[in-house]
Amino acid sequence: MERIAIAIDGPSAAGKSTIAKLIAKQLNYAYIDTGAMYRCVAYYVKTNGIDIQNEDLITSILTNIHIHIDQNNNVFLNDQNVSGLIRSDEISMMTSKVSSYQAVRTFLVEQQRLMALSGGVILDGRDIGTVVLPNAQLKIYQQASVKTRAMRRYKENLERGMEADLEAITKDIEQRDYQDMNRAISPLKKAEDAIEIDTSTMSLQEVVDEIMNLVKKVGL
Ligand code: C5P
Repeated sequence: MERIAIAIDGPSAAGKSTIAKLIAKQLNYAYIDTGAMYRCVAYYVKTNGIDIQNEDLITSILTNIHIHIDQNNNVFLNDQNVSGLIRSDEISMMTSKVSSYQAVRTFLVEQQRLMALSGGVILDGRDIGTVVLPNAQLKIYQQASVKTRAMRRYKENLERGMEADLEAITKDIEQRDYQDMNRAISPLKKAEDAIEIDTSTMSLQEVVDEIMNLVKKVGL
């Protein structure tokens, strides 16, 4: 079977990364978490005390940012393992801001395309099917209601031993949806040829099975 590129886009906390990892494992594909790359930029901005509104300064420091994701999905920023550090709610919100800057997107999209060159890859994000890999053989747009997504994130935070406030998480998700869908550059939207899957009432296994069926169809 041909080793294809799979794009999974959709709003925050729709379960994209969980699904993408399971599919990648089944197919023996590389999984590329593009959100983690944007998170690294936000984390760098925060730890270096840079004003998040200062687009020019952020544009000029991008060359200092070296991101590496290993086979176990550990994320390294300038050789520091930041896998856990980039997941806080504060970084999520900052990421949504830095990801609206053109230079940040150009910088990361170029790296993502290089990483996907060999095929046999699954990328998740907001603009994979529309901008990063417009020729991906399979594009999924993974949706879920705000309520479902907030509840999933809430449980996830508790499991990670992090603070969890359902109301605050719901507000965060709504705000990030708004920012990601309404930014001028590469806003989150379903690619015309993407297949939409609403996972609100589906189990993980059902979503995986549905995507695996689609992979078989396009990969044959
Ligand atoms: O997927 P994740 O929640 O980790 O993404 C964090 C943020 O990074 C998103 O809210 C979005 O603003 C940004 N992002 C993006 N384009 C991508 C992936 C993530 O703009 N391809």
